[in-house]
Amino acid sequence: MHDWIVVGAGFAGAVMAERIASVRGEKVLVVDKRDHIGGNAHDRRNADGLLFHVYGPHIFHTNSSAIADYLSRFTEWRPYEHRVLASVDGQLVPIPINRTTINALYGLDLDEAGVEAFLAARAEPVENIRTSEDVVVSRIGRELYEKFFRGYTRKQWGLDPSELDRSVAGRVPTRTNDDDRYFTDSFQNMPRDGYTAMFERMLDNPLITVKLGVDALAIPAAERPLRMVYTGPIDAYFGHAHGKLPYRSLQFRHVTLDQPWTQTVGTINFPQDQDHTRVTEVKHLTGQSHPCTTLTYEYPSAEGDPYYPIPRPENEALFKKYEALARAEENTWFVGRLATYRYYNMDQVVGQALATFQKLDAALPRSDREAA
Ligand code: FAD
Ligand code: UDP
Repeated sequence: MHDWIVVGAGFAGAVMAERIASVRGEKVLVVDKRDHIGGNAHDRRNADGLLFHVYGPHIFHTNSSAIADYLSRFTEWRPYEHRVLASVDGQLVPIPINRTTINALYGLDLDEAGVEAFLAARAEPVENIRTSEDVVVSRIGRELYEKFFRGYTRKQWGLDPSELDRSVAGRVPTRTNDDDRYFTDSFQNMPRDGYTAMFERMLDNPLITVKLGVDALAIPAAERPLRMVYTGPIDAYFGHAHGKLPYRSLQFRHVTLDQPWTQTVGTINFPQDQDHTRVTEVKHLTGQSHPCTTLTYEYPSAEGDPYYPIPRPENEALFKKYEALARAEENTWFVGRLATYRYYNMDQVVGQALATFQKLDAALPRSDREAA
């Protein structure tokens, strides 16, 4: 009946299904074990009618016009630039650390050159920058590292920054000017009607069937379509043959308050105290007008749904073993954050899926069915 099964209805699965159906004219069965589409980007309205992000705050940003153009086929956008404050030493100060942060924390009035000199005097040279500790300490010194990064990272990952690849804390830059945006990408917009509405449009194709609440790995191979796109955890696909690949999880607590606003910015980070890492007031992201507001607290956890691959050398070595198995797997393509064990943002997953589609489309003869 179907030419393909796509496992997972998140960004990776939805892009692959959309491309296979629209470009190749082939029939796709999309399954997800959850009861909804959108993967971790899923959003919905709560009982009070507030749109919220079920799996934590998702802010769309990219420097790729090709990726923005592709998604623009399925959604209008509303401009949104994310801002974050960190609760440090009893003050709320901008993170990424910028001129405002340094002046507020140290009671100074430095200009840009002054902040540059301030940080340079504290930065500790590290010869070979390998870890998240190295990357921060070599940029801003140990004191600011401890205030902003050490505690947050230990909470978020259950690991010291010295045990994590430099790319993790390297996601957060340092600035000497007053720019207090979390991201500086050229395209920073939220899907105007939310993520789930965008996914509905991506999957709205007569050649695509979506089945929810289905674990694809429980379907016997003989009963599955010949070709598969798999976007779940790669170790689960292979029955954990080489042992469990670690993924970090989170528990989310969504609290609705009977007041229009609580925070001045989208997110407040807690690097020094609290069990949660951050609190996000999602109305900043969605732009919804509503007399009430919803806050999302994130509590890191070793147990639960896999959300983050954990970038460190031993995990990459274990992933490589699974990747070798994946390469040998016929008629199966592994795409997305969990299946390729990459700490990817949404736009990077879309880019990876579009590139994977191009490769498979070039390699496989197309069905003679008419594209819908
Ligand atoms: P997923 O969204 O995880 O989708 C995989 C799907 O596969 C899941 O729905 C799962 O149920 C399904 N599945 C797995 N196994 C099976 C099976 N055996 N059978 C059936 N279905 C299965 N990115 C940004 O760009 N900006 C942000 O602000 C941002 N914030 C984030 C905040 C949090 C808390 C988290 C966790 C992530 C954030 N991300 C953000 C990253 C973003 O969520 C991912 O890049 C993106 O959702 C990954 O898409 P995916 O399709 O690879 O995986
Ligand atoms: N980080 C930190 N303090 C902060 C913000 C980030 O130590 O206030 C570190 C932490 O290790 C975090 C990483 O930088 O996991 C990446 O941060 P980002 O905000 O990109 O995380 P995500 O939104 O992906 O959870």
